[in-house]
Amino acid sequence: MDKKFAIIFAYLKELFPSPETELHYASPFQFLVAVMLSAQATDLQVNKVTDKIFKKIKKTEDLLTMGFDSFERSIKSVNYYHSKAKHIRETAKLLKQRKKIPSELDDLLKLPWVGIKTAKLVAHVLYDKPFIAVDTHIHRVSNRLWLVKTTAPEKTSELLEKRIPDEYKDHAHHALVLFGRYYCTARNPKCEDCKLQKICIHYKESFWTKWII
Ligand code: SF4
Repeated sequence: MDKKFAIIFAYLKELFPSPETELHYASPFQFLVAVMLSAQATDLQVNKVTDKIFKKIKKTEDLLTMGFDSFERSIKSVNYYHSKAKHIRETAKLLKQRKKIPSELDDLLKLPWVGIKTAKLVAHVLYDKPFIAVDTHIHRVSNRLWLVKTTAPEKTSELLEKRIPDEYKDHAHHALVLFGRYYCTARNPKCEDCKLQKICIHYKESFWTKWII
């Protein structure tokens, strides 16, 4: 398995020398808000909104003084904007008392609307914790390459965190997300140009299926 990871991460390094989140932010609080907005929304949709509102909202106090209606209106183009506005505002109130965004998963999970994926992503990006926050892209890529054989993203996350060698943990999350988003896409993955063909179960299966049909 270690050899397989070495091949995969060497290739991902070629594709993405310095992979990072595509969400725009300039402060820890902005990152948390962007991640909370990104549930069921694309980074592109979120960036369109945050590029405007983050000119005014840099820290918790800015959001709280803005007023709920105004904040809610400003994120209206994002899915579930009403619930998100409510939860982000509640989060801002809690964080104002705590003064900083928590670094531990248990504490992050106590924030409204923060599930395990968000908590891991925030801890990874803001505090360099070695978590793999598994989204739909990482889940798909990991199963196609048979790094895991799972149906639930939470299980994928747990197994990847155990299996990926520490030396790749810094970049693994972002590199796998970007690979799934731009190369190993859900429909029409760019297999013909992919250097992972030889170790990819999905590629081998689709190759033989083509010939059998
Ligand atoms: S060969 Fe195709 S399915 Fe396999 S990892 Fe590459 S792009 Fe994804």
